[in-house]
Amino acid sequence: RQDTAPGGTCTTCPYCGVGCGVRAILDGAGGLTITGDLSHPANAGKLCSKGSALGETTSLDDRLLAPRIHGQDASWNDALDLVATRFRKTIDRHGPDSVAFYVSGQLLTEDYYVANKLMKGFIGSANIDTNSRLCMASSVAGHRRAFGTDTVPGLYEDLERADLVVLTGSNLAWCHPVLYQRLAAARKANPKLRVVNIDPRHTATSDIADLHLAIAPGGDVALFNGVLAYLSEQGLIDAAYTEKHVRGLSEAIESAKKEDLSATGLPAAQVAEFFALWAGTEKVVTIYSQGVNQSTAGTDKVAAILNCHLATGRIGRPGMGPFSVTGQPNAMGGREVGGLANMLACHLDIENPEHRVAVKDFWDAPAMPDAPGLKAVDMFRVVGEGRIKALWIMCTNPVVSMPEADAVRAAIAGCDFVVVSDLTAATDTAELADVLLPATGWGEKDGTVTNSERCISRQRGFLTPPGAARHDWEIISDVGRRMGWGAAFDYASPAEIYREYAALSGVAGNFGRDFDISATAGVTDAEYDAMAPFTWPRSATREGGRFFADGGFYTSDGKARMWPVQHRQPASKLTADRPFRLNTGRVRDHWHTMTRTAKSPRLSQHIAEPFLEIHPDDARRIGLAPASIAEVESDFGNCLLRTLVTDRVQPGQVFAPMHWTGQTAPTGRIDTLVAPNTDPFSGQPESKATTVDVRPF
Ligand code: SF4
Repeated sequence: RQDTAPGGTCTTCPYCGVGCGVRAILDGAGGLTITGDLSHPANAGKLCSKGSALGETTSLDDRLLAPRIHGQDASWNDALDLVATRFRKTIDRHGPDSVAFYVSGQLLTEDYYVANKLMKGFIGSANIDTNSRLCMASSVAGHRRAFGTDTVPGLYEDLERADLVVLTGSNLAWCHPVLYQRLAAARKANPKLRVVNIDPRHTATSDIADLHLAIAPGGDVALFNGVLAYLSEQGLIDAAYTEKHVRGLSEAIESAKKEDLSATGLPAAQVAEFFALWAGTEKVVTIYSQGVNQSTAGTDKVAAILNCHLATGRIGRPGMGPFSVTGQPNAMGGREVGGLANMLACHLDIENPEHRVAVKDFWDAPAMPDAPGLKAVDMFRVVGEGRIKALWIMCTNPVVSMPEADAVRAAIAGCDFVVVSDLTAATDTAELADVLLPATGWGEKDGTVTNSERCISRQRGFLTPPGAARHDWEIISDVGRRMGWGAAFDYASPAEIYREYAALSGVAGNFGRDFDISATAGVTDAEYDAMAPFTWPRSATREGGRFFADGGFYTSDGKARMWPVQHRQPASKLTADRPFRLNTGRVRDHWHTMTRTAKSPRLSQHIAEPFLEIHPDDARRIGLAPASIAEVESDFGNCLLRTLVTDRVQPGQVFAPMHWTGQTAPTGRIDTLVAPNTDPFSGQPESKATTVDVRPF
């Protein structure tokens, strides 16, 4: 298919959770021009370097063009028969929990919906988890604990309405660049707007900040407890709001007052300045991302942030509220669709028997697990123990991105039966597959995604799928039909799946849940094709699209819960053998494991190889010259990285990017070093605080 729409095709960028609208224009001679979609509410025509280079990343040179069974090309019939037969036999012999799906925030909502339906409703296991576990699970757990549902209260406009924007654990400038551009523009337009950046590392985001707090790793709970205690001491708790809408205030304040602020590692004067700013500014937005989530105290960090907003009633009003920004284009869609092992579709709870029955009945399903399944880190551990015997990995590369990545590789290599659906066979994970299934990618597939402000947008196909590639929803449905559930997986189009999904959200609405898009359940195919971006809950104006200004939380009594939390150190201990804390993260111009962005020479120009940021004092002390090769070792693996000596990191801390793979830079696969320590509530791994040794190579 070659798009002939005048002005090209409106679709959505496949990278970060900002969810920018893009316009893709084919020139009919093989060229593809990408521009920002002026009409999209997320970006109003702006794009970052990654989004604007999308046209350079659609080449077919490494594409998987046909199914493969044990490395040999095969027909779809043979491949899908084998997948369905092996999953069926494994379930019959060992039970439904002997199989698992590991999916991705890159999947479109319709793909995600069908995968979740097959695993939970028909196979009868909750062993479906997603790489969003590495990204947003602590926010999900924090939201559910405080609000009763996984609800992001605010909108992007709040950045422009705020007088104080606090960015904690977020390098917005590199990881959500168009939001950062909006913030930078807002700062120019509003001289009153102050920006605080809380990050152990000085990043590109710190450059815009009036105040950069180089907090000690893991110090966020202590800092936000300090804010809460200060608010209480200053008499700034909003009694009217908290009495009506909040429980747990006094317990949370009592706990906050016991906090030892030395855990922040910050000078007292900086802490005092921050407290005064936070307390003295009504319109505060606190943006947080992986520095908060990727922690063994991630859920408590989220609670400490939410506590401050709940205690002051600064939530759900223009320019006020906590705001988690998601890493992936459809992390939010995956959360909405129940793609995490501990959730049901449409924000219904797997622990709630009535919710389980409602979803089971809606699907007319033979089964429904009554307990959460295995979260990502546990899932791969159980694969390694041989208790999961058939594994289907869709659209993600866990051999590079999971903590303790060498153990994950060994677990997958040792699994009885592994299926990988992806665009390419050239990933560290795909090379371990028994069956490789060629999937369509961005520009070829149709469906919806949800961005960080709950805006649902269409991704639209404008390129002909190459070779025998098929859409993920088609592949999953075909396996469901071959396993004997024909009627439930007889989908003809993503529009049909969307209608079913939207109708199911009406069931959730009947239970008083937040996620209800059932007003769109009757869209025709043509209306689905033309669907404009919309933010749920649907309202006449985007102003109305916020939550909780007047309470209305999704708990049993309609009140939010403030949780008493206390600082905990990161799980990995500093020792004489492991004297550095390793922080990992993104660079500006690459995405995940670079399967797409590495195709653009322009993007690779920014940073060409993996590196290790280390403080000059540390480099000098251990004899590490600038640009030399450092050997970095943890209890789980080692890497060789180019040394970047910079005071942007604190002494005793080092930083390395997460993108490079066994194929792109065999010695730079940083997650081989990362410890598999997880948050006890969210199961999210602590990807930013493994202790390591560093020495000259
Ligand atoms: Fe794509 Fe995110 Fe850049 Fe927008 S900010 S163009 S969604 S990568």
